[in-house]
Amino acid sequence: MAKIGSVMTPAGRKALLLGSGELGKEVALELQRYGVEVVACDRYPNAPAMQVAHRSHVFNMLDPDELRRVIEAEKPDHIIPEVEAIATPVLVELEKEGYNVTPTARAAWLTMNREGIRRLAAEELGVTTSPYRFASTREEFDRAVKEIGIPCVVKPVMSSSGHGQSTIKSEADIDHAWAVSQEGGRAGAGRVIVEGFVKFDYEITLLTVRSLSGTTFCEPVGHIQEDGDYRYSWQPQPMSPVALEKAREIARKVTDALGGYGIFGVELFIKGDEVIFSEVSPRPHDTGMVTMISQDLSEFGLHARALLGLPVPEIRFFGPSASRAVVVEGDTDTIEMDCLEKVLEEPGVQMRIFGKPEINGHRRMAVILATADSLEEARAKADRAYAKLKVNVLPRSK
Ligand code: AMP
Repeated sequence: MAKIGSVMTPAGRKALLLGSGELGKEVALELQRYGVEVVACDRYPNAPAMQVAHRSHVFNMLDPDELRRVIEAEKPDHIIPEVEAIATPVLVELEKEGYNVTPTARAAWLTMNREGIRRLAAEELGVTTSPYRFASTREEFDRAVKEIGIPCVVKPVMSSSGHGQSTIKSEADIDHAWAVSQEGGRAGAGRVIVEGFVKFDYEITLLTVRSLSGTTFCEPVGHIQEDGDYRYSWQPQPMSPVALEKAREIARKVTDALGGYGIFGVELFIKGDEVIFSEVSPRPHDTGMVTMISQDLSEFGLHARALLGLPVPEIRFFGPSASRAVVVEGDTDTIEMDCLEKVLEEPGVQMRIFGKPEINGHRRMAVILATADSLEEARAKADRAYAKLKVNVLPRSK
């Protein structure tokens, strides 16, 4: 029988969050609703999830020795990766030693690198993807661009949120794309994927939950990305029954191959009735923040429930909803979210301020959520609220 004992006693459950951003913060809160002890980790202090966790550790999660040291000191019941930048081979070893990794250590390892998940989906599972080549040197890169053809998209195999990503629209963009890709990857990168450009009608995230109850799907989340980073999302994205069925089939296939319990964000491109797999996060997805207003259990609530080994018999969808990311640019530790009485004046609008301690460049700092009777109205409402928000970027306090 599934049981959860008193918090912070040997009978209780302890979760170690690897990554403490806005998504991790919501997972921490949801776990605490079940009386779980939450230990938050990230490479910088006062990260959003640390502000609501029982305790925290600040270290470089890409360092295998440090990662092992923290996990062995904490001995968590659940290790929950919330970002990609983790020394995942250590998780694979620790899982063999008896630790429980959400959803599985292999899923975290395969999805940390675009090559792992792309080869699994396209070459092992036979799922439709864009055509692709991998390249580690300039020579291989030039050959890959020639073989895939222009237009094509270039991404470091280890990067996220659009870092190092660019589109080659003509031969003149080739040098720039290579240079950008070499700056944007995470440590140890350099290798890139060159993908054929997909002229999709729209793109979705299909949030897919694997739990004791089997596989359950959320309504599809539509979204718009700018510079490889999400700006707007909404739910439900209207889809033809054929495309929806195909999307679910692909999501089921890919998530079954990754295994374990938890939520997955399956990213898909849709063109007519054709569905093309892009990638998958074995954890909550940023575009899925819309579920904080659209569902009885948000993607974070679903993740917590599934990974704790509890059933998810149903996901109740409340109705058309939208989210608008608040991305702020600057170099400071002090910003003000201003005019909030205007932002929140309409019914059916909510806001989450993440509490990130500083900005250096551009950073997602908050999200506005809206719900209404129609998708158009939900999106318009989120846009109206966003337009009323004023963000004051002030000088550093220290
Ligand atoms: P990713 O980091 O792979 O999720 O890419 C970020 C965004 O870039 C996607 O959500 C798409 O909007 C766009 N994108 C990525 N790959 C392609 C592609 N092969 N064709 C067209 N657009 C793409």
